[in-house]
Amino acid sequence: MLSVLKCIDCGHEYPINDVVYTCEKCGGLLDVIHDLDTLKRTVSCSTFDARLGALDAPYNSGVWRYKELIYPEIAPDYIVSRPEGNTNLYRTPRLAAWAGVNTLYCKHEGENPTGSFKDRGMTGGLTQARSLGMTRVACASTGNTSASLAAYAAFAGIEGIVFFQDKQVALGKLSQAVAYGATCVQVAADFDRNMELVRQIGQDLGIYVLNSVNPFRLEGQKAIVFEIVQQLRWQAPDWIVCPGGNLGNSSAFGKALYELRALGFIDRMPRLAIIQAEGASPLYHSFIRGLDRLVPVKAETIATAIKIGNPVNYSKAARALRWTDGVVEQVTDNEIMDAKAVIDAQGIGCEPASACSLAGTRKLVETGVIKPNEVVVAVLTGHLLKDPDATIGYHRNALEGIEAAFPNRVYQAEPSVEAIAAIIAQTQPLVAR
Ligand SMILES: *Cc1c(COP(=O)(O)O)cnc(C)c1O
Ligand SMILES: [Zn+2]
Repeated sequence: MLSVLKCIDCGHEYPINDVVYTCEKCGGLLDVIHDLDTLKRTVSCSTFDARLGALDAPYNSGVWRYKELIYPEIAPDYIVSRPEGNTNLYRTPRLAAWAGVNTLYCKHEGENPTGSFKDRGMTGGLTQARSLGMTRVACASTGNTSASLAAYAAFAGIEGIVFFQDKQVALGKLSQAVAYGATCVQVAADFDRNMELVRQIGQDLGIYVLNSVNPFRLEGQKAIVFEIVQQLRWQAPDWIVCPGGNLGNSSAFGKALYELRALGFIDRMPRLAIIQAEGASPLYHSFIRGLDRLVPVKAETIATAIKIGNPVNYSKAARALRWTDGVVEQVTDNEIMDAKAVIDAQGIGCEPASACSLAGTRKLVETGVIKPNEVVVAVLTGHLLKDPDATIGYHRNALEGIEAAFPNRVYQAEPSVEAIAAIIAQTQPLVAR
């Protein structure tokens, strides 16, 4: 059986090459559904282990290594890959101690080609765009999706069009989209309004929309979980913790875990913990009401990548929480920035939204939801260099409403050995910190 698009609400199916993002019958979100019965017979851990370290496309990619689980029937010639994935899974004892658990790993998705996990989705999305013969692709974005779309579209020789908000776009992300040559449009509206606009414009002008409502993006993002589990030698961790904005990643993680379990790659389900910023936490509020419904909010947070009040993938994320016995927590901007400082000071580093994973883990340990002996994988979604203003502002203690707990001050010195030696004499060697 070939893969199909299937509505998660009414079950209606569409051929894989239909240009459709949501169900024409009921408006529900669509899944790419693969034939799991066939896959059960044809792939195993050794299929994917044999491809580790591959030098050639497509298996040199940390997404396409799992091609059978991502898009089995796509011809390799269509695949647009940088290649992405193959990111590090750091074992981080000091972060574990800070969060209050024995074993914590950080899966660093900021190590993708454009510095965020969005590349894993974009390889899926651009591949489908090419297979459909599309000449233009577009997205609305808080920044990283645009950076990634711009890069992958340029790489594929397709026109990329990106919609930004008119304010609060992190500098690293905006500069990437401009540099990669996308058509960049700053729209005087927030992300949620831009999202509506891009869907309308895509429909009116026949432009392929590559926001995470596009199910091929989520197929690529599943590979984050596949890689984590393979890096743990096919052992499931107890928890996977990630930030939640538009909830594409949370949705992809749920589907990935469901499929790994159904195919027998893991023998128990890890629990998913989705962490939102307090000023942008509609999923959290739904979760504490028993996942009844989404009530959109006006979003506000320093973590601009998750400054989203009306997440498109709400119903898939709710499903992921049910499948994995998952939880949702919220953290303050101050908690996010302090956690970021701790991650950064390990020499690893991440952008603000990513630090939700650590801040949220710490909070869930405090409240007794995560037990100290459980194995936690925290997903770091974006690179430190994405948002230099947030980092510098924090260390100068110049961010409004944030009291930096771990500032690293920059000293000013006269150009003399004595002056500099006097400064170094006051500082402590790192081991003692
Ligand atoms: C996009 C993004 C998120 C949010 O992911 P969603 O899939 O929208 O929930 C978090 N962190 C970073 C760095 C991102 O780029
Ligand atoms: Zn439907």
